[in-house]
Amino acid sequence: MIDSGWAEQVRRLARERDAVILAHNYQLPEIQDVAHHTGDSLALSRIAAESDASTIVFCGVHFMAETAKILSPDKTVLIPDAAAGCSLADSITADQLRAWKAEHPGAVVVSYVNTTAEVKAETDICCTSSNAVDVVASVPADREVLFCPDQFLGAHVKRRTGRTNMHIWAGECHVHAGINGDQLAERVAEVPGAELYIHPECGCATSALYLAGEGVVPAEKVKVLSTGDMATEARHSSATAVLVATEVGMLHQLRRAAPGVDFQPVNERASCRYMKMITPEKLLRSLREGTDEVDVPADVADRARAAVRRMIEIGQPGTGE
Ligand code: SF4
Repeated sequence: MIDSGWAEQVRRLARERDAVILAHNYQLPEIQDVAHHTGDSLALSRIAAESDASTIVFCGVHFMAETAKILSPDKTVLIPDAAAGCSLADSITADQLRAWKAEHPGAVVVSYVNTTAEVKAETDICCTSSNAVDVVASVPADREVLFCPDQFLGAHVKRRTGRTNMHIWAGECHVHAGINGDQLAERVAEVPGAELYIHPECGCATSALYLAGEGVVPAEKVKVLSTGDMATEARHSSATAVLVATEVGMLHQLRRAAPGVDFQPVNERASCRYMKMITPEKLLRSLREGTDEVDVPADVADRARAAVRRMIEIGQPGTGE
C-alpha cells in the first residue's frame, strides 16, 4: 500500500533531480497517474528527447529505457528496476540476428521497436505496430525482407503487403500470445455489439480478422491498433462497449480517455509481470538514489539510432507497443 504523501514525494524528488517521469500504458495505475507523461514506447522516447529535463525516469521495460537513451544520449536515463525485461525483445539476440543475416545476404532487416539496442544496431529499418506495413512496403520488391522478432505482427504485415519474399522470426510476447482466438470468440458472444480493439501482437489478431471475414463481427467494428492509437480511438468513440485485446494495464488509460464507454478485457489475466516490476516503492528509490542507470555503448547507440531515423524518414512513425 502506498501512503497519501507518496505522489507528492515523487513529484518533489523529480523536481529536485530535474527529472521527467514517463510511464508506459501497461504500468500500474498509480505509476501512470503520478507520471508527467503516459503513452506507448516510441511516443515516450520522443517526449524524452524533446524535454528540457536532464534526467529521464522511464517506468517501463528495459528496451524502452534503452530506446530513450539512444534518442537522448546526453541525458541520464533511469529505470526503477533494470531487471524489468521483455519476453518479446529476448526472443532474438544480436548473435542470432547476425547468423540469420548471413543465411540471407542482401536481405533488408526490419525490426519492431521491441528489441534490444544491440539488435537495433544490426537492423536496417525499425518499425512500430502502426507503420510496419509502410516500412516493409518501402523495401524494393526484389529485395528479401527479414522481419523480427514478432511472428503475429509479421503475419499481419505479410497479409497486408502480400509479400512473398519476407521471412518472419518466430518470436512472441508471452502476454499477447496468451490472448487467443477461442477466448475472443467467447467474449464476442458474451458482449454482443461490442467493438474490438486488437493489438497486432496478439495471438487473436488473425482470429479477429477471420471472425470479421465470416460476418461474426462486422468488419468495421474490428480495429487493429497500437496502444497509442487505441487511446486516440477511444477519445472519439461512439461505442457503448469495447473488448480490448492487449495487456490489461491499457484499460486504465482507455477508461480515463472515455469514461462513458464500457471497456472490457478479452483476457483479464493478460498482465505483463515485467511491467508490474516497477512498483511505487522502486520509483521512489530510483528518484532518491538515482537507480538504475541505463547506458548504451556509443557505437551501438549510433547504429541503432540510424535504424530508428530511417523509419522516421519513411513517414509517420506512429506509435510503438
Ligand atoms: S507485454 Fe509482452 S511485449 Fe510488452 S513488455 Fe511485456 S513481455 Fe514485452
